[in-house]
This record gives sequence, C-alpha cells and structure tokens, in this order.
Amino acid sequence: MEPLRIGVLAVQGNFREHAHMLRRLGADPVEIRKPEQLTGLDGLVIPGGESTTFMRLMQLYGLDDALRAFDRPVFGTCAGMIVLDRDHLGLVDVSVRRNAFGRQVASFETDLAVAGEEEPVRAVFIRAPWVEEVGPGVEVLAEVDGRPVLAREGRFLVAAFHPELTDDTRLHERFLDLVREELSVVRA
Ligand code: GLN
Repeated sequence: MEPLRIGVLAVQGNFREHAHMLRRLGADPVEIRKPEQLTGLDGLVIPGGESTTFMRLMQLYGLDDALRAFDRPVFGTCAGMIVLDRDHLGLVDVSVRRNAFGRQVASFETDLAVAGEEEPVRAVFIRAPWVEEVGPGVEVLAEVDGRPVLAREGRFLVAAFHPELTDDTRLHERFLDLVREELSVVRA
C-alpha cells in the first residue's frame, strides 16, 4: 500500500518534530506552505507555535480559506488547536483559552489518562491552551484539572499539548488510524 501523505503546516512552529514522528510511523510527511500543496493529501497536522503568527501568515498566503475547504482529517496540537476553534478558523466546535495554565511558569509534563489507552500518555504542555467549552458533537478524550486537553470531533483531533515532543507515538498512530478510516469511507 502507498504510504499516507500527511501534510504538516510549516509556516511556523514545531513542524519538523511532527514530520519526524510521522515518518517513523511509515507515513510520507509533506511540508505545507501554500494552498495548492493541500491537494492530494490524506490528512494534515497543524503544529504548535504561536497562534497569532499562524493566523497572520495563513491569511497572508490564503491558507485560511484553503484550510476551510480542506476535507480530510486534521490533527491540531497546541497553537494548532487554537487556530481550529470557533474564534479562529471555526472548524472545530470548541472554544479554546490561550495560555490557560499561565504563561512561562505553566509549562509542565504530566502522565495523562486518555480514553481508549490502557497506559497513560506522557504529555508536554508549553504555554498551553485548554478547552473552555465544547459543542455537543465533541468527544473529550483527556482532561487536566477538569479541563479538556484532548478531544475529537469527527475528522478533527485536537490536543492542547505536544505529542510530537515525546517518544510516545500513540496519538499520531490514532490520527493515522482516523485518516485510514476516512479513506475507507471515501473509497467505499
Ligand atoms: N501560547 C501559544 C499560543 O497562544 C501556544 C503555545 C504552543 O503552541 N506551544 O498561540
């Protein structure tokens, strides 16, 4: 079978680490900087970074409209989760609070209980957001202090933390499973 072609938005932020992890899992990561590069992708990762910079650069390159038209699975991590929410691209029915745990001080690591995983997931939070409100179609998969930090809505997976910065590949594997599920629907 052809490897899955997964775009990694590469305008800013932690895109190399995501690409590295995707390659490790047998996918073919593609760095995305222009709208036309979204064509032919099986899925897309929007990495962490700085959400205001992301929005500015995406608008500059026309990537915001292109992302709204993109119909494949998307995995947004940290700033990537922020840009997908109701107040930014409006693609996921959640409201996200930026720097919710506090600014620099609130960068921390924790073992996270994740729905569907037997062993906890080591999660790195860096000036992380949390999910403040979720719509009815959103499935919360993990929380810290009662605040959702991992959630899924249909073909969207969002994490407040940085799964690309640990050795734990399980969340990227889950995303690739989601991509395969969606492909089987499209091809059926
Ligand atoms: N604090 C950043 C923001 O608000 C997100 C931090 C991150 O992606 N590590 O955009």
